[in-house]
Order: sequence, then C-alpha cells, then structure tokens
Amino acid sequence: MVGVARIGIDLGGTKTEGIVLDASGGTLVRERIPTERERGYEAIVSRTAELVARLRPHAPAAAHVGIGTPGSTSVRDGTLKNSNTTCLNGRPLHRDLERAIGLPVRMENDANCFAVAEAVHGAGRGHRLIFGVILGTGVGGGIVIDGAPWPGPQHIAGEWGHHRLDPAGPPCYCGQRGCAEALLSGPALAAAYAAAGGGPADAATIAARAASGEPIATRVLARYLDWFGRALANVVNILDPDVIVLGGGLSNLDALYDRGRDAVARYVFNDELRTPIVRNALGDSAGVIGAALL
Ligand SMILES: [Zn+2]
Repeated sequence: MVGVARIGIDLGGTKTEGIVLDASGGTLVRERIPTERERGYEAIVSRTAELVARLRPHAPAAAHVGIGTPGSTSVRDGTLKNSNTTCLNGRPLHRDLERAIGLPVRMENDANCFAVAEAVHGAGRGHRLIFGVILGTGVGGGIVIDGAPWPGPQHIAGEWGHHRLDPAGPPCYCGQRGCAEALLSGPALAAAYAAAGGGPADAATIAARAASGEPIATRVLARYLDWFGRALANVVNILDPDVIVLGGGLSNLDALYDRGRDAVARYVFNDELRTPIVRNALGDSAGVIGAALL
C-alpha cells in the first residue's frame, strides 16, 4: 500500500479530475478536464484513459488506478447502475476502463471515495463511523467504518439520496418521485426557486437572496432546509454515525450548519442531536484523493 505513488480519478458529472499522490499522501500532480457527458459513453471512457496516460509517468510503479464514479457496479453483471450520468448506466464501465487504460482498476462510488478521503485525511479523522454526504448535482452518501468504505453486498449502502421523502414530490431520474436527490440537489433547489417565481439562480445566489430577505428565496430555502432535516434525521435514526461530513457544491451553504442542523434535530428520534454535522476539510479534492486511496 505504501511506498509508491498512486493514481486516482474522480469521474464526475461535469468534470473529471485526476491526481497522483506520493507515498505519504501528498499531491504530485492534478489535472481536471470537462466530462462532456453529452458526447456519450465512448468519449467518456477514452478521455478518462487519455487523462490516466498523462498521469502515469508521474506514478511509474502504480499497479492499479482508483476510480470514483457516480453510481456503482452491479454485482450481477459488472455493469454500472444508479449513475446520474445516465449514459454510463447498463454499460460495463469497469471492464471498458481497464481495457482502455491497460491497468487494473479499482472502482468505487464517488460518495464512498469522498467519505474515505474525509475519514482518513479530512474532517472525519478520529471517528469510527463516518457518514459522508454529497450535496451537488446529485445527492449521494457513503459509509466508512474504521477507515474502510462499507458499500454493502449490493453496493447501495449509504444511498440516502434515493429514499423517498414525498411520494407526490418532483420526479427523479431513478424512476421514483420525491427522492432526497429530487429535493436536495443543486438543480432541485434551483428548480424549486424558479417554480416559485424567483427566476433562474444557483444555490449560492438563492442563499444570498434569502440572507438579504428576498421573500421567495427565504421561503424556498426554509423549505429546502426542512427537507434536509427530514432526510438526514432518517439517516441518523438508522445509522447513528459518529460524524456527518458534508461535501459537494451545496456544502458551502452556511445555513446547513445552523438552521439545517436544527431541522435534523427537530426530526431525529431523540430528545437531542449530538451528531456533529461538519463541513468537509478537503474541499473539491476529497473525491479524487479517496479514489487514489482505493
Ligand atoms: Zn431517486
């Protein structure tokens, strides 16, 4: 495990990032390219392989490549499933990447990679059971126990993004309605704001408008934080993690850590909420660092 440089790839919905970590976990090289998922499956595979080829000279002894992806590999037939980069679903991504790259690949869900990185090098250090949360283009979650990911026998452990909160809620790409992802992702927040008459705006803008007292933003953000509380309280009730680490673009919303936390406390099956809910320590780097640690 130690002694050689390691290669990690974070295959995200909008960007694909590669990293080479030295033997002590320091960053040697980092490179980021747009995923361009609209160009389709084959383009994603070949561009990922090209990125690895550029990184390999910096890690000549690396015996495998760690890759974090949205979704997970089916135990049944080795194809990818549950990815919100939907062109990857049903395709043998693991096998095709190994063939294109020419090295063994260790693949894990991107939220699990995030959780591993935060558990080992970030905000989850010193805790035994970490629930890592991604709030971004999608909503993911990963469970880490004693430094190792816990994907579960079906590779769906921690997927809180697709537990149903509102059967009459907005449709989700998974085929259900009112999933946590359909209510808590960045696009979901933007869509709720637009539907309420606020016009096009991203999460940060909506939060800023709410802070300045704009009525639509205030109402939409309050509702968002309430859903956040209901969703995360369900997780706490089932898992009772030692710490919850938030990642993804929306983890920058300060309101999650006070009013959002209050909402979790309101719905949790307990008379208090002791669970720390903390901001990630590794920022954008967690996913790719976690992939390199696989
Ligand atoms: Zn869903």
